[in-house]
Amino acid sequence: AYRKGGYHAVRVGDQFAGGRYIAQRKLGWGHFSTVWLAYDTQSESFVALKIQKSAPEFAEAALREIELLSAIAEGDASNSNCIVRLIDHFKHVGPNGQHLCLVIEYLGDSLLRLVKYNRYSGIGLDRVRNICRSILVGLDYLHREVGIIHTDLKLENVLLVSTIDPSKDPIRSGFTPILERPEGNPNGGTVTNLIEKRLKKKAKRARARISERKTSTEGVSVQERSLEGIDLRCKIVDFGNACLYNKQLTDDIQTRQYRSPEVILGAGYSFSTDMWSFACMACELATGDMLFTPKDGQGYSEDEDHLALMMELLGKMPKKIATTGSRWRDYFDKYGDLKRIRRLKFWPLDKLLVEKYKFTEDNAREFADFLCPLLDFAPEKRPTAEQCLQHPWIQIKDENSSSENNEHMEKLETGMGKLKA
Ligand code: ATP
Ligand code: MG
Ligand code: MG
Repeated sequence: AYRKGGYHAVRVGDQFAGGRYIAQRKLGWGHFSTVWLAYDTQSESFVALKIQKSAPEFAEAALREIELLSAIAEGDASNSNCIVRLIDHFKHVGPNGQHLCLVIEYLGDSLLRLVKYNRYSGIGLDRVRNICRSILVGLDYLHREVGIIHTDLKLENVLLVSTIDPSKDPIRSGFTPILERPEGNPNGGTVTNLIEKRLKKKAKRARARISERKTSTEGVSVQERSLEGIDLRCKIVDFGNACLYNKQLTDDIQTRQYRSPEVILGAGYSFSTDMWSFACMACELATGDMLFTPKDGQGYSEDEDHLALMMELLGKMPKKIATTGSRWRDYFDKYGDLKRIRRLKFWPLDKLLVEKYKFTEDNAREFADFLCPLLDFAPEKRPTAEQCLQHPWIQIKDENSSSENNEHMEKLETGMGKLKA
């Protein structure tokens, strides 16, 4: 991918925008870009530098992302608190072409990492509620004030404001910025290891204050108690696929598991398609499992399986909805029954939460009461982000749910016990 039109190869210490930004270490990558931790010599702070691939289609996506993030930033700053902030943007010419670069505020781990950290067993309803609140505030602002549909909400695209592992956080670990390319490594190579070592050394003091016992889950190595006391705030990122509601670019949106029924049916979409994905995310945070994981099988497609899974959880899709959109005939007969998957096993959400995930009856009922309206097959019936923020479940205060919290801590402890054994 590091070829003409592709990624720009970055070495630690590389300078951007006439020396203003200096690359520190790689934070992540996606289909469109690599993202680097960079030091902003002007504001003397750390930022994230998203360096887009250079081919025209990627440049176009970056331009759109810049445009949308600028529109977001122009609004009321306090309302855009739950959406990543664009700080700057510029072009960078390298051997593979011209790359658009976005300078965005530096954020921590994604929600996916948070779920992995908890061994895919759910993160506890108090934390789910806090995170849901942040996402809803962000969505309410996006939808109502700037008219943007995100179209790719999923756990990877919501980042915590802090990292789970403080040693990976340049600010909390007291990491000193690298201002020039480390000597003896003119070709890059293992510079990253060098930096990692340096980072670890700097983080030693920060780490000592936290528990020394380590746990390790699927490649995630973290301090056992590091989640404690972290204010779980988060922000929505990755606007590379987002669009203005009245300027849609494609019918083909959303990551499979978070895709709404109207998108599968080719029936058009609006803000409410984000609300469907939001419900899938909330459920995943609470249980540790994706809500829908469709697979193709003998004689049926992934799409048809997806629709079948939805109906097993939510009941039969009303015929009126099942027989609309440009693709309904691929899946349904004229009576609104699936053509190739006949026998559905109905397992409603509140029962699923109790029977499979061992929620208490009360917790399951309240949570399902919050989520089910968001999973309405009729997009226009789904509550808006604004309405969700008024729901009794979202309004529960953390303090008076201490018993549930204890219950969760107990579950966490048991999990940790198992891990150590
Ligand atoms: P995709 O293939 O998902 O469209 P993309 O190329 O558009 O990816 P992003 O999703 O924006 O890129 O970023 C890629 C990864 O970089 C993220 O998953 C995350 O791990 C990391 N990342 C992005 N933005 C930040 C940030 N502001 N702070 C810290 N890490 C970030
Ligand atoms: Mg992404
Ligand atoms: Mg993207």
